[in-house]
Amino acid sequence: MRVLGIESSCDECAASVVEDGHKVLSNVIATQIPFHAAYNGVVPEIASRKHTEWIYAVVKEALDKAGMKAADVDAVAATARPGLLGSLLVGLSFAKAFAWARDLPFVAVDHMLAHLYASRLDQAFSKGEEVSAAEYPFLGLLVSGGHSIICKVDAFDDITVLGTTIDDAVGEAFDKVSKHYGFGYPGGAVIDKLAESGNARAFNFPLPSLHKGDHRYDVSYSGLKNAVINQFEQFRALPAHEAKEIEEANIAASFQRTAVEILARSLFNAVQDTGLHTIVAGGGVAANSLLRARLAERQDLRCIFPPLELCGDNGAMVAGIAYRYLERGEASPLTVTASARVKAFKRRCS
Ligand code: ATP
Ligand code: MG
Ligand code: FE
Repeated sequence: MRVLGIESSCDECAASVVEDGHKVLSNVIATQIPFHAAYNGVVPEIASRKHTEWIYAVVKEALDKAGMKAADVDAVAATARPGLLGSLLVGLSFAKAFAWARDLPFVAVDHMLAHLYASRLDQAFSKGEEVSAAEYPFLGLLVSGGHSIICKVDAFDDITVLGTTIDDAVGEAFDKVSKHYGFGYPGGAVIDKLAESGNARAFNFPLPSLHKGDHRYDVSYSGLKNAVINQFEQFRALPAHEAKEIEEANIAASFQRTAVEILARSLFNAVQDTGLHTIVAGGGVAANSLLRARLAERQDLRCIFPPLELCGDNGAMVAGIAYRYLERGEASPLTVTASARVKAFKRRCS
């Protein structure tokens, strides 16, 4: 079964065709980054307008690259939540119209569950091994621009949230620090690159004290973000040549080390308490090189990351997870609408 998946929850206008929930036949991602870069963040009005302008061409290209015509599509899926409402509505409406016009099954998909599914697509490898073998239950690490979730995963659509951020999301912290220092947008990949030449011990930024009781699996980024931003005055006073370049790299590396350690601490608490030793990551921050290296240090864990191009927003994860619903005979009514808010996932009882 060939499913067309459409993703438009934020600033990526994406479409993909995936066969039988795993084989990626095409994956088109049109990023709006250049249109938002001047504002150092996503402007919702610009995002929805660009989606409206691009969606047809993006879907057309996804079909072309898969060597298909509209008539060859067996089902259509789109992200319905969470995200920017205006942006979500573009992809969702397009998908519903496509399904209605061709009388095809339609599936509305949750963006966070889709991020978690990305590692089950064929291109996904972990330490060279095929990932599809990851057996439930395992621990999920969902780290992106808007979310930081540590969860127990019992099925592709059944997660129990163990911990989450009590303030900012980890990707948001990367973006805000980068914005403040003028490193570039979006901040994650820029800081990851800058950090390569920096000394990660140059600054000792604080770790939040979340290690006790109810917060054992939670994370917090506002303290770290503020500490790094407060360092800016000192940074600005430096003359603009080599010293400044070294300091930029040091700040990026020290921030990144702490940001990753915050995630690792809470995740390792969850490993210890649940006894689960397989971790599946997803979301834009799963592309972070230090996060990957830090988790790989733990020889007792099996850590599965999506390939870099499937960490951020894409249509393949949407088409892939949709197949799993269809396989169970579940489709969504065309009356489904978009929602900006994250689904109320089950939470651990403390
Ligand atoms: P959400 O998935 O929570 O709705 P989103 O869709 O905007 O939010 P993604 O597209 O999944 O988020 O990921 C984008 C985020 O990932 C940005 O915050 C970006 O800075 C971050 N990111 C991308 N690459 C890296 C990297 N190498 N290191 C750290 N962060 C990264
Ligand atoms: Mg994005
Ligand atoms: Fe996302």
